[in-house]
Amino acid sequence: MSNATIRVRFAPSPTGPLHMGGVRTALYNYLLAKQLGGQMILRIEDTDQTRFVAGAEEYIIESLTWCGIEFDEGVHVGGPYGPYRQSDRKELYVEYVQQLLEAGHAYYAFDTPEELEALRAASSNFQYDASTRHGLRNSLSLSKEETARLISEGTPYVVRARIPAGEEILVDDLIRGEVRVQSSTLDDKVLFKSDGMPTYHLANIVDDHLMQITHVIRGEEWLPSAPLHVLLYRFFGWTAPRFAHLPLLLKPDGNGKLSKRDGDRLGFPVFPLRWTDPKTGDVSSGYRESGYFPEAFVNLLALLGWNPGTEQELMTMDELVALFSLERVNKSGARFDPEKAKWFNQQYLRRHSDAGLATLFIPVLASKGINAQTATVEKIVALVKDRVNFVNELWDQSWFFFTAPQTYDEVMVKKRWKPESGALISQLAEKLTALPHFTTEALDAAVNEFLVEKQVGMGAVMTVLRLAVIGSGMGPHLTEVIALIGPDEFARRIKNAVTTLQ
Ligand code: GLU
Repeated sequence: MSNATIRVRFAPSPTGPLHMGGVRTALYNYLLAKQLGGQMILRIEDTDQTRFVAGAEEYIIESLTWCGIEFDEGVHVGGPYGPYRQSDRKELYVEYVQQLLEAGHAYYAFDTPEELEALRAASSNFQYDASTRHGLRNSLSLSKEETARLISEGTPYVVRARIPAGEEILVDDLIRGEVRVQSSTLDDKVLFKSDGMPTYHLANIVDDHLMQITHVIRGEEWLPSAPLHVLLYRFFGWTAPRFAHLPLLLKPDGNGKLSKRDGDRLGFPVFPLRWTDPKTGDVSSGYRESGYFPEAFVNLLALLGWNPGTEQELMTMDELVALFSLERVNKSGARFDPEKAKWFNQQYLRRHSDAGLATLFIPVLASKGINAQTATVEKIVALVKDRVNFVNELWDQSWFFFTAPQTYDEVMVKKRWKPESGALISQLAEKLTALPHFTTEALDAAVNEFLVEKQVGMGAVMTVLRLAVIGSGMGPHLTEVIALIGPDEFARRIKNAVTTLQ
């Protein structure tokens, strides 16, 4: 692919929160632009006023910023091809629709919604096209005078594309190859509405042209619109950009498109950030608030539909920029695996230094009223980080470093706590708290000595000791825990367990 000023755009409609599939579309556009030294543009397609949702545009920008997807031009950064919000370009489209009307590629249609409804009710496969348009109320079937009269009287109308009959339309797609469509399968799509706004199709083509977009990379759901878009470029006499339609994101079982309902049902987010519906107040979870690192989220999204051609799975944004290619984007849908998503986060969590993780964990501790030394927290995260996928799971794996157990696992107590256990661990505790150096190594050595002295097995003693210190069978190497909580706290926990369980 030549790198002569490639210009790509992400063109979401602010109709709600951005689905993770939308983030992936933005990501692929970004990767290509970065790799080839081109420009990445954010254009807001808000021509359908009925679907406008307050806060959606801000949400889109915040989500992409969180992911590290940057724009060279767009609603939030400006640029030489602005404005970048279609509702701010309203006047501009009138001129272009006029151009199509004059050239005979578009026409006025006066049919009321009720009339069209009745036609659809009468015939389920009714289509407004070359075979039906002459029997309907439009500027092709009515006389020039009648048309002029209706317009001057203020009769509501729309402008429709005049799709030619009996033609094969070719969409040359960088991912799907040559897609051929018979024009008779297309309807005369509305390009301009009675509210004075263009539809998506017209505004999209005009803007891609005016913004000098070279590659349109978007979701597969737009493939059915591509033949119309190809025709519109031809009607205008413009060169069409290259098209690349990305495969769908599929449900974990591979059956159908990944939806918010799947996320709710199976317990994973489908949106990058938490979203509160401004009308209903319903809250949808986000990857950010679920504890995902943006790097992990970006990495897992990149691999939903693309692979580098090797077994490599972990890639930073810079590596993705270097490795990405549209040639390696799959045609078939990409199945989303929520377990694999967690695995990615775990990998990124492990890549953090102990100091870095401690910085993230300290606020979690603070929210629980725990004010721990940074050095201690660093040691603790080092011991438990291999057991978690998320920072917010660190607490579940390490609470016993900060606070004594309130209960003791009943099943374990029944099975392992013997009449002599209390005396045995009290003696051991006495020996351990008397050590001059309360380190893991010193504790391990003293425990071994004790086992030999008392002629008892490791399992019998350590399980009971763990029960007393942690309250259950969980946790890392026990003497690491004991060393970190210190001799006083250790002695208190033993005493408490012995009196409670005796
Ligand atoms: N506004 C469309 C959307 O919401 C853009 C489709 C395109 O990229 O052409 O996805």
